[in-house]
Amino acid sequence: MTRVVLSIGSNLGDRVGRLQSVVDALGESLLAVSPAYETDAWGPVAQGPFLNAVVIADDPALDEFGWLRWAQQLEEAAGRVRGQRWGPRTLDVDLVNCYQSAPDGDVEVFSRDYRLTLPHPLAHLRAFVLIPWLAIQPDAELTVDGRKRPIAGLLAELEPADRGSVRLTAQVLNLTTPQRVVPNAMPEI
Ligand code: AMP
Repeated sequence: MTRVVLSIGSNLGDRVGRLQSVVDALGESLLAVSPAYETDAWGPVAQGPFLNAVVIADDPALDEFGWLRWAQQLEEAAGRVRGQRWGPRTLDVDLVNCYQSAPDGDVEVFSRDYRLTLPHPLAHLRAFVLIPWLAIQPDAELTVDGRKRPIAGLLAELEPADRGSVRLTAQVLNLTTPQRVVPNAMPEI
C-alpha cells in the first residue's frame, strides 16, 4: 500500500473538468481533495491562470512508478502534448511525495530515478502546492534536503507575493465516494 500527495493543475480548456477527471479516476483510492485555487502562470510564455488543487490518495496495488504511469495516462487522456517547456497545460499531475506502508509504520519513498524524483524537488517552493495541501492536512510534513519540515513553516518562508498569488476559488471538485480520514501526521522513518 502506498499513499501519495498529488498536485494537479490545468490552465487550458475546461480547467475544473480536467481536475475533476483526476478525482473521478481515483474513486475509492481518494483520501482527501483540497478546494481549487487559481494561480497566475509565470515564466516566459504568456498564458491564462492555472486552476490548482492537491489530492491525497492510497492504493494497495500501486508503487511510486505505478502512480507516475497512472498520472501520465490521465495527462494523456486530457490531451496533453509534451511540447513547450513552460507552456499551457490541459492537465498536469505531479507526485509530491509518497509513503509505503510497513509493519512498523509508514516509510517515505525516495527516488532519484531519471523518470521520477521523490519528494518532488520544487514542491517546497510552490505556494500553489503548499496552500491547497495545508487546507486538507494542516500538520503535513515534507522532506527537504533530507529534513522533515512542517509545510506550514515552508509556506511561511515563501515571499508574501507568492502566497498572495494563490487565490481560493468557488470551484468545487465533487467527490464520487465519501472523503476518508487522512492520517494525522506522517510518522518518522
Ligand atoms: P512536468 O512537465 O512538470 O509534468 O514533468 C514531467 C516529467 O517529469 C516526466 O517526464 C516525469 O517522468 C518527470 N518527473 C520527475 N519527477 C516527477 C514527479 N515527482 N512527479 C511527476 N513527474 C515527475
